[in-house]
Amino acid sequence: MLKKSLLIGLFFCSSLLASAEVNVYSHRHYDTDKQLFKMFEKQTGIKVNVIKAKASQLIKKIESEGVATPADVLITVDVARLVQAQEKGILQAINSEVLTQAVPQKLRQKDGYWYGLTKRARVVVYNKDTINPSELSTYENLTDPKWKGKILIRKSDNIYNQSLLASFIANEGNDYAKEWAKGIVNNMARKPAGNDRDQMKAVAAGVGDLAIVNTYYVGKLLNSKDPQEIAVGKKMGVFFPNQGEAERGTHINISGAGVVKHSKNQENAIKFLEFLVSPNAQKLFAQANYEYPINKNVEASELLKSWGSFKEDDIALEEFGKNNANAVKIFHIVGWK
Ligand code: FE
Repeated sequence: MLKKSLLIGLFFCSSLLASAEVNVYSHRHYDTDKQLFKMFEKQTGIKVNVIKAKASQLIKKIESEGVATPADVLITVDVARLVQAQEKGILQAINSEVLTQAVPQKLRQKDGYWYGLTKRARVVVYNKDTINPSELSTYENLTDPKWKGKILIRKSDNIYNQSLLASFIANEGNDYAKEWAKGIVNNMARKPAGNDRDQMKAVAAGVGDLAIVNTYYVGKLLNSKDPQEIAVGKKMGVFFPNQGEAERGTHINISGAGVVKHSKNQENAIKFLEFLVSPNAQKLFAQANYEYPINKNVEASELLKSWGSFKEDDIALEEFGKNNANAVKIFHIVGWK
């Protein structure tokens, strides 16, 4: 009898262990994320399974898998994709005191459909050899004719640019956003091509003087294995636009996550997100990609601190998702390739 109940107990335990997992669909692809997920496994005994792809592909996958989806958590690198996922009905609202406390209000969906995990700023970088930062001020200033042929920025199909323009729409309206986009097109050094790092390489090569990029790409260049990339990074000055008292602050975005609607491991998914915003995890998580921690109690890395502190645009990030379609339309109208 004792033997039998022991066996049943063992069977019960192992089946419990077998289900102790969380399935993560992630657009992030950094080695330190892996290290972090191991930390979580060690702390909780919950196994982390990761599928990596672009957010748009992961969203499609979750949609097509429907109720049978193995996905518990979706991680993206831009808030607009999280809003999209929410609008498609593939996320669920999570009520967690830990997440609400750790993540500032503007960086999470108000009903708990998604939460920011790390923060990035879309800034102006300049060639330190040719530009005096005293000439720089706002995103709007970049449309001044004095910058004709000097601005580098990637294509408009890029979600970071779409969210940047959506922030203009949300703050100042459609017409204002259109004028700005038109002004940037007029001042472009070349037809948009390549990623954020390529814009900085073009600045270093003298194709133009200024580029609009996400902060962590400067960190990536400076910490590259390629000496030429390091040299490019060293040439770049980081400038946070729109810092004046009457101005709205520098545009920020998040890498963030939500729990999938048909998650089979909802509790583990919440534990996983709570872990990622905890101070210990935040430090590593943000440093992995030279991003800013979301948790106010965690300091940024030395490199980020060396660029100085800045005022952030305080608008709720979900506005970027809501204004995405309009932003895409404006880019098309003004001929931003
Ligand atoms: Fe990126």
